[in-house]
Amino acid sequence: MNEPFRSFRGLLKERFPGCKVVKIPIHSGLSCPNRDGKLSRRGCIYCDRYASGPPDTVGWPIEEQVETFMKKHPGRKYIAYFQSYCNTYGPVAVLEKKYAIALRYENIVGIFIGTRPDAISRPAFSLLERIHRRTWLSVELGLQSIHDHSLLLLNRNHTYGQFCEAFQELKRRGIETIVHLIIGIPGETRQHMVQTVEALNALRPAGVKFHLLHVLRGTEMYERYVRSPFPLLSQEEYTDLVVDLLERLHPAIVVHRLSADRERELFYAPSWALNKAKVLRSIRTKLAERGSHQGRLCHDA
Ligand code: SF4
Repeated sequence: MNEPFRSFRGLLKERFPGCKVVKIPIHSGLSCPNRDGKLSRRGCIYCDRYASGPPDTVGWPIEEQVETFMKKHPGRKYIAYFQSYCNTYGPVAVLEKKYAIALRYENIVGIFIGTRPDAISRPAFSLLERIHRRTWLSVELGLQSIHDHSLLLLNRNHTYGQFCEAFQELKRRGIETIVHLIIGIPGETRQHMVQTVEALNALRPAGVKFHLLHVLRGTEMYERYVRSPFPLLSQEEYTDLVVDLLERLHPAIVVHRLSADRERELFYAPSWALNKAKVLRSIRTKLAERGSHQGRLCHDA
């Protein structure tokens, strides 16, 4: 099927024709400066205790996580996805050992490393550059919004300026970046979100992930929401916004994600978001209804 947007699935088909490639979510065991007290102990207000990683493999050695996943999904090629917490945060020798485990497997064809923009030291940038020369490396940077008032509300404890510095340093070293954005941050209007996408167009990362602002149990946002519920996006509002943003997103930027998902036991609200297939269908339907596609309203496409 021809996608009306440049999907990650499409990219994998181009890069690895005839092969199925899947991501192995990995807990590296590293921490996060926004949780360990260096910047804060609160963490981002939406971040759950597994920091996006799968709950059932916490604490496992990396080899065991990789091999268990490969046994469950045999006969494929894999991307090692260092997903939870900040996977560039630590002494470079420790980071190198962790990444080296993934590099040992012949059928791992890429390494994706999730982190915060202010948690990459100089030596870590150099390590990433060395890995980039050996394999397909993508660094996933949490940004969420270019608006510092939103970053403050989310307790991100970094600024858009810091994001730009890390982004440009990765770019200078030839390393591709995937940027995470949150749609529906309280106080943000459609215009704020459009400005974020237009700023990304100017930076031109390799990819973007759109996440719905959702409430997960055990987070600071959950406490606030339960105490005093605030409006969350309806499915229709989310669909409309995502389609508006896709129309403005540069067509070269790969869309890695169009909605967030999480285990049912962690998820709290809005309940419609649990049906990810329906959300994706509604986005495709809306694009078709508008006769539209990614980049249709992008000025520099
Ligand atoms: S979302 Fe990322 S940066 Fe924020 S607290 Fe969680 S692990 Fe740390």
